[in-house]
Amino acid sequence: MNNNSILWSKILEKIKNEINSLSFQVWFEETKLYNFSNGVAKILVPYALHKDHLATNYKKLITSCFIEEVGENVELEFLIEEEIEEEKNEQIEETKIEDTIYNDNKDNTFESNLNKKYTFDNFVVGNSNKFAHAAALAVAEKPGTMYNPLFIYGNSGLGKTHLMHAIGNYIEKNTNKRVLYITSETFVNEFIEITRKKEDKNDFDNIDFFKKKYRDIDVLLVDDIQFLAKKTESQKEFFHTFNNLYGDEKQIIISSDRSPNDLKILEDRLRTRFNWGLPVNIYPPDFDLKVAILKRRINAEAINKEVPDNVIEYMASNIGTDIRNLEGSLNRLFAYSTMMGRDITLDLAIEALKDYINAGYSEKNDVGRIQKIVADYFKISIEDLKSKKRNADIAFPRQIAMYLCRKHTDESFPKIGIEFGGKDHSTVMHSCEKIEQEIKNNKSIAEEIDKLEKEIHN
Ligand code: ADP
Ligand code: MG
Repeated sequence: MNNNSILWSKILEKIKNEINSLSFQVWFEETKLYNFSNGVAKILVPYALHKDHLATNYKKLITSCFIEEVGENVELEFLIEEEIEEEKNEQIEETKIEDTIYNDNKDNTFESNLNKKYTFDNFVVGNSNKFAHAAALAVAEKPGTMYNPLFIYGNSGLGKTHLMHAIGNYIEKNTNKRVLYITSETFVNEFIEITRKKEDKNDFDNIDFFKKKYRDIDVLLVDDIQFLAKKTESQKEFFHTFNNLYGDEKQIIISSDRSPNDLKILEDRLRTRFNWGLPVNIYPPDFDLKVAILKRRINAEAINKEVPDNVIEYMASNIGTDIRNLEGSLNRLFAYSTMMGRDITLDLAIEALKDYINAGYSEKNDVGRIQKIVADYFKISIEDLKSKKRNADIAFPRQIAMYLCRKHTDESFPKIGIEFGGKDHSTVMHSCEKIEQEIKNNKSIAEEIDKLEKEIHN
């Protein structure tokens, strides 16, 4: 250990005693002291998200722990790996920690629709959902201040609903804020019901009640926004609800099966607003995360059954990426073993799960195929994609290829790094983040990626 890492580990010890373990794990565990000289401490953090969050919420704490340890004043700078590589230092604005003002007269009869079963505690974190998890926790800790709206997107069964409830439950537990969870279908149905009644009886009370219900809350969670599509009247009403809450700095959290830019059926003005805050992608789980989720489930089950490691590995490598299916298959395995009166072994698992495994959940895409599609498209060679060349006409297609591999295969960041000539997993992560930003900000790149994805799906 060098001096910096010894110093930093002492400071982290102090910080650890001051905050809860979840916050410590997400915001501090992967930080490093990159450099400390002339009263400036440069702290290396995993994502840009950490920079904002640490600067806004933990600056005072870090500074005071730092001063205690070194006995002199210190200025903090947070950097991500890429910035250090480029030796480009960003200045971080001083921001004050705002004290949350709790509303004392909370109405206890208010129905939040939250499912207590989904919390941060039982959400297993891996490479594919780490960023979404960190963003969700940032919003849960400081609703309405930094990332508004938080837009979580990804395929079905990757944990979007779980994360949304986790945010809601966290806020309910720690503040007196009013939280409301709904699906976009509920919103549409209630709206249609109310407008129908209005026509019947000329009854304006209901519509007022409806408006008040959605605008009197502090945190609105809307799940599966893609179902709002096409229903124009309810979309308009949602737009007004959104604007009202947003204007009052109330936190809005939205989930969808696709990114804001891919929600083509939404009105432009709504799509633009969804991009105002922070769109975060949940990727399909890799093998390690699937194993971790299965183990966690097995331990949580009251059933006293041993599940050998080779069975867990068999399930993790054969059951695709939908975590719902993973859980379903485990339930089926338990039921099958009880029914047959047999212990759980690999043979029993193969027998019990043949429907799950033969149902075509396996992915047909692999890294090599995507590399070839991207290389052909940009008229470069696969060797170039795997090389260390940094010129833009190779580096950019490489970043696109990494992004597409992460999105359309089952492979982890480290594994993709290996397939691209032994790059570090952080390079792959950075590429994915960068391309996501590009898709958001640059129409022509979004269109190119669209074309490539069509080919991948062919
Ligand atoms: P989505 O809303 O993205 O379709 P859900 O949030 O409903 O997915 O997740 C499907 C199931 O998988 C739920 O039972 C959820 O608890 C579980 N699940 C998803 N991700 C995780 C995770 N990281 N850790 C533990 N359980 C998870
Ligand atoms: Mg869901």
